[in-house]
Amino acid sequence: MHYDVVVVGAGIAGPILARNVAKQGYSVLVIDKKAEIGSPKRCGEGLGIGTFEKYDIPYDKRFINREIYGAAIYSPNGHKLELRYNKASGVILERKIFDKMLAYYAAKAGADVMAKTEAIGLIRRNGKIVGLKAKHEGETLEINADIIVAADGVESRIARWAGINSFLPPHELDSAYEYEMILKDFEFDPDLIHLYFGNEVAPRGYVWIFPKDEDRANVGIGINGDNPNTAKYYLEKWLKENNIKGTKILEVNVGGVPVGGFLKELTKENVVVVGDAARQVNPMHGGGMAEAMEAATIASKWIVKALEEENLELLENYTTEWWTNDGERLMKVLKIRQISEKLSDDELDAAVQALSGADAEKLAAGDYKEVFKALIKHPKVLLKPRM
Ligand code: FAD
Repeated sequence: MHYDVVVVGAGIAGPILARNVAKQGYSVLVIDKKAEIGSPKRCGEGLGIGTFEKYDIPYDKRFINREIYGAAIYSPNGHKLELRYNKASGVILERKIFDKMLAYYAAKAGADVMAKTEAIGLIRRNGKIVGLKAKHEGETLEINADIIVAADGVESRIARWAGINSFLPPHELDSAYEYEMILKDFEFDPDLIHLYFGNEVAPRGYVWIFPKDEDRANVGIGINGDNPNTAKYYLEKWLKENNIKGTKILEVNVGGVPVGGFLKELTKENVVVVGDAARQVNPMHGGGMAEAMEAATIASKWIVKALEEENLELLENYTTEWWTNDGERLMKVLKIRQISEKLSDDELDAAVQALSGADAEKLAAGDYKEVFKALIKHPKVLLKPRM
């Protein structure tokens, strides 16, 4: 079989890219090793409201559990910073349905989709990558394609097979652990997401409560991947300290989040890397869905141009455009994260108090300049040496 483009991975980046390319009339195949696209999920399911319009995704109640009106941030000494808006600023998705629907939109645009199909290697002929081998129901398929897209998530192997240096040391990875659970006898405002910081709470990261219902939420944690203790250890400790009984757990999610920087090379020959596979995650909060959508949008534009002009060299423009836009912005966010991860609990308290005076709208939009403006009032926090 031959396609113009074969996409490995039907998470977020893969189907959006496939939809955009298929819409322009090119033949696209999306494969995913999961038997059911979207399941199991490995996600807190929080997404900014603006992404739906920006990336042309229907605002469909079938995958929206709950609208969210802001965030409550808790410092180690319990200081609470509340950012509340009078209209929804985000949603908590049902990713098992969302991912499947994204694949459905790609299929409706003309792409073929094959679940339970795992890429197992690239095919080279005369030194050139001409497709990939995949396993489907015990059978090995040879899929020929002009362009191969690695949208295969944090554990990506495609990029490495293509010769891109995608090695990820443990300290550049956050380890995440999450329960979808009933929060019995624990008061929380279900209209907000709740984020708890502190070096004893979650080293380098935070504990989150992302409400899916009045009493049901994704309760998770992310910590530095080279921590001698596990993320589960810290989450269990936090639940115990807050008298939350873990007796009504509906789902357990474990996963890695690449938070240490982004792939320098996003393409090699005719291979294009997007989303978690390219480490395109916000290193401050670990969210990667919006970043995956942005990368998929830029990459699909250059894939279409390369196919139109029959010039695969045009694919390199994806690297340039991504780095000059998202890459530069996210590098600044990474620098703020690197400063914040060195803060003592007292300094974290001071930082959260300083942020109380910042423009809430801008903070919610992840405006790093607003963060700097607020922290400059606390030079001790901002000027903390990084090593
Ligand atoms: P993925 O969504 O990981 O999709 C990759 C797909 O590739 C998978 O479906 C996989 O099955 C498939 N695949 C892999 N290898 C192969 C292969 N060889 N052959 C075929 N298929 C393959 N981000 C947010 O924005 N908000 C959050 O609240 C949030 N919470 C998170 C909580 C946790 C616990 C974790 C671990 C991550 C969280 N993230 C969150 C990050 C977010 O989930 C990712 O950034 C996002 O899913 C990246 O999308 P993607 O398309 O790049 O990869």
